[in-house]
Amino acid sequence: MKPLKILHLYPDRMNIYGDFGNIICLTQRMKARGIKSQYFSRSIGEEIDQDFDIVFMGGGQDKGQASIAQDLQLKSRALHEHHMRNVPMLTICGAYQLFGKYFITAEGEELPGIGIFNAVTKATDFRMIGNIVIKSDVFGELVGFENHSGVTELLEGSNPLGSVIKGFGNSKDSKTEGILQGSAIGTYLHGSFLPKNPTVADFIIEQAVRLSQPEYSIGELDDWLENEASKIAKNRS
Ligand code: GLN
Repeated sequence: MKPLKILHLYPDRMNIYGDFGNIICLTQRMKARGIKSQYFSRSIGEEIDQDFDIVFMGGGQDKGQASIAQDLQLKSRALHEHHMRNVPMLTICGAYQLFGKYFITAEGEELPGIGIFNAVTKATDFRMIGNIVIKSDVFGELVGFENHSGVTELLEGSNPLGSVIKGFGNSKDSKTEGILQGSAIGTYLHGSFLPKNPTVADFIIEQAVRLSQPEYSIGELDDWLENEASKIAKNRS
């Protein structure tokens, strides 16, 4: 099997609350299965010049989002082509917002999104901060940490990643969190997200391998430690 190519967008500007840990988690879970991976980063002025197998982008403050929004527009066509090929994508918080149609910042500036997700986000004067637990029909219970003022409205035909058990998610009272669209995931869960939620990590890896081996089925790993960590995090206030 050829090494899986991971594309990390704007690691220098969109990377908070341990978001880089998602890359480490993916590469380690691939390594544990004998799957090789290659890491690529693309930031401002750097083109998406080849086909990648996984796309990742972390979160960031309004200022960070404003600094990359125009450049992300230039990468939009290539990202849509990846999405059309069902390349798995994980976008955290500020990235999730900019993969939607637009994000209106706390200062009222409208940042254009790339419209992979049929969703819109507006900043509010209420910050949604704290540990969060959600229930996903696909991945089971998921846990993380959120810190955002943006409220995301899912538009027609969009499905949330899960329903909120504890915390806020897409808004103060929608009781929905994130979005799941084919192999593309948007979520407000930082932490980092994947180490405590291995079912999602394995979904991303399996989808990536299936781009070249459609019959591939990912084997189990002993996730005792991941599940213990998740249990402890869930019981945190
Ligand atoms: N700046 C955005 C907001 O506040 C996203 C924050 C983040 O990525 N944690 O909503």
